[in-house]
Amino acid sequence: MLILACSAIVLLAGVYVATPLFREPKGNLEVELLAETELDRLLNRKAIVYSNLKDLEFEYKMGRLADSDFGRLEAGLKSEAAVILQKLDQLGVESNLDDVIEKDIANRKAKPQSSRSTVRTSQAARCPLCGAELIPGKKFCGDCGQRI
Ligand SMILES: [Zn+2]
Repeated sequence: MLILACSAIVLLAGVYVATPLFREPKGNLEVELLAETELDRLLNRKAIVYSNLKDLEFEYKMGRLADSDFGRLEAGLKSEAAVILQKLDQLGVESNLDDVIEKDIANRKAKPQSSRSTVRTSQAARCPLCGAELIPGKKFCGDCGQRI
């Protein structure tokens, strides 16, 4: 359990260290810098994941990790590494810098929207007197008789 806590702390520390790199650069940065940021971010993330994997394997070999814990943590890190490698590959394959930047911008724009989309859409009209839900078309509240 202590080992798990330690790995969690290591992971959190890694995230904490990497966090500034995830921040959006300020407005008028050069196009090259934007692309470089994305690349740096991925390379940095990859280095963190790899070092975490090494630590994990070390802990496991030292017998400080249960098989199940090791398998679970390793699977998580490896799937993360796979995603990063895939993204790096995409960046490398992209010969057109503008495409990379467009995708990057699209990703940045997409993130806040997805978390904001849980706005109430259906709000029925309510009686101003008792707060009961009103039946559309009725002139009086079905609950208290208040004229609408
Ligand atoms: Zn009412």
